[in-house]
Amino acid sequence: MTEAAALETVDVTCVFQVSQGLLRGSKPLRAVNGVSLKIPRGRVVGLVGESGCGKSTMANILLGLQRPSSGDVLYSGDSAAGFSRRQIARRIQPIFQDPYSSLNPTKSIESIVSQPLRIHNVGAPSEWSARVGEMLDVVGLPRRVASSYPSQLSGGQRQRVAIARALIMRPEVVICDEPTSALDVSVQSQILNLLQDLKEEFGLTYLLISHNLAVVQHMADRVAVMYLGRIVEEADSDTLFNDPRHPYTRALLGSVLTPEPRLGVPDTHLGAVFPNPIDPPPGCTFHPRCPDCMAICRSEPPRPASDGGHKTECHLYGGAGAPPTATHRGDNP
Ligand code: SF4
Repeated sequence: MTEAAALETVDVTCVFQVSQGLLRGSKPLRAVNGVSLKIPRGRVVGLVGESGCGKSTMANILLGLQRPSSGDVLYSGDSAAGFSRRQIARRIQPIFQDPYSSLNPTKSIESIVSQPLRIHNVGAPSEWSARVGEMLDVVGLPRRVASSYPSQLSGGQRQRVAIARALIMRPEVVICDEPTSALDVSVQSQILNLLQDLKEEFGLTYLLISHNLAVVQHMADRVAVMYLGRIVEEADSDTLFNDPRHPYTRALLGSVLTPEPRLGVPDTHLGAVFPNPIDPPPGCTFHPRCPDCMAICRSEPPRPASDGGHKTECHLYGGAGAPPTATHRGDNP
């Protein structure tokens, strides 16, 4: 993908020191480990993976809420080091998973939606009420809800309020962090359709973070698959869903048809549990769960390889992106 990037990470790593108890000091946890990801302007990039893979840390880094330990974040090509928190907030806004907890129950909808304007001192206070009314129109809510409180609204209405709050700053990029997973199935498609309409209307760029692959397939132009802090596969959406290469991606795709779609949590059927990120396995960190594991996988981390725009980090594709063969697959005990 050669389009200009609205948002980009360059070899970003984020390490947290995690206490091991009073006498045992702390250990480093690499929540994000050398991630380079471009989000082209006007596109939707999906970021998928299980809980704990580093998706939310990535979101916090992109939003300027968390400093990376190394690497850089570029906003339209310019380093984040040159931007204040306020400047980042004008460009990038989040929509979080749970509209029940992300809206202050003691504040009116007008106060909630206008909050970014107040915090960042945008426009004249006398205009804020009118701007809230316009945003309620945009997200399909009647203006009378401005005087309501979150507890008086349905889940779908609350998520529309959260979207209005995000868009009132007229951001270029919206980080949608599991935007529908807390909603009833019947409401999810309405919110996804609203997000798509708003993307066209306002020329938005989305990073869609989700463990619900059906949502990502519906929305995303390009998809990155994250495992233990690394992007292990990245491709255009059609390519990734029709020709998944990394064994982890294949396991995730095999989990789409879970018996409980409301949960949106993939059951990857991988057997071995998700490893402890404080003490990751050597070699390829996916090897204890990988049905295609080879001897080399247990000792050497795979290098990223690119076949056109299809990037894979796996020894099976370490060369020219050759597909796996029967002779070297599946020797995991
Ligand atoms: Fe599986 Fe080896 Fe590829 Fe890792 S590098 S995903 S263990 S085949």
